[in-house]
Amino acid sequence: MTREFRFDPFTETSVHIVADRQNRPNLPSSGCPFCVGGLEAPENYSVHTFPNRWPALEAGYCEVVLYSPQHDARLSTLSTENIAELVDVWAQRTTALQALPNGECVVIFENNGAEIGATIPHPHGQIYAFDHVPQRVAAQLKNNWFPDADPGDRLILERDGWRVWAEYAAVHPVTIRLAPINRVADLPSLAPELRQSLAPVLHEVFSALDNLFEDLPPYMMWWNQAPRSHAEWPDAWLNMEIISPWRANGVPRYIAGVEVATGEYFNPVDPADVARRLRDAMN
Ligand SMILES: [Zn+2]
Repeated sequence: MTREFRFDPFTETSVHIVADRQNRPNLPSSGCPFCVGGLEAPENYSVHTFPNRWPALEAGYCEVVLYSPQHDARLSTLSTENIAELVDVWAQRTTALQALPNGECVVIFENNGAEIGATIPHPHGQIYAFDHVPQRVAAQLKNNWFPDADPGDRLILERDGWRVWAEYAAVHPVTIRLAPINRVADLPSLAPELRQSLAPVLHEVFSALDNLFEDLPPYMMWWNQAPRSHAEWPDAWLNMEIISPWRANGVPRYIAGVEVATGEYFNPVDPADVARRLRDAMN
């Protein structure tokens, strides 16, 4: 089975050929593997991490993070104490994976919703530690990414050191960014107060997202944080991106041929409108 990292120098595209992953199950045949007593969580837990049985990286590490033992929970329904524990675990795993030989760039992410390929509904995310800094991460570091200082009508929430806004050049119908107002390089560097204040902010943002449409929208989220080689990236600024492909209830926007062809996107939704609706969904 082919398993190889390949780079197309003409389009500057990186691809992991992971043909052996075709054999992984789409859905477990019996029971939820993430519920207490299941295959991946034999013992009682509150937040639990373990290595992914079907790692996608040929060099580097892949882990799964279970947010809660409650099968039907979401970030919007977890207590803020639970979310604070999750933030601590994200930080701890970042430090632990960076200590391993190939743990150069730790990316924490979640796919939520069957529509975007989340095969198990139990609340969970994943962590990939790359042995290199992937291109999109590197581009933001090279360009000294920093939070939108004046998002105006795209502002969604600002509280206790955190700012949340709809992105100016939003690629997807829902494209949200969240960051500490003052620079912090990565999750392990977050001061205890900021970790504490992050939990209710995340709770509120994901609740608003869940209320944005009649049904629960599929979404993806991920953290951008400094790679292990901090010294090379003195301006690295921790932030989270949250995106949903829905442009209306149950209606995903598909990426069109011209967008794949050109790398230029056509978004039918005004980011200021998304921000207003998310603000309304919080009240
Ligand atoms: Zn479960």
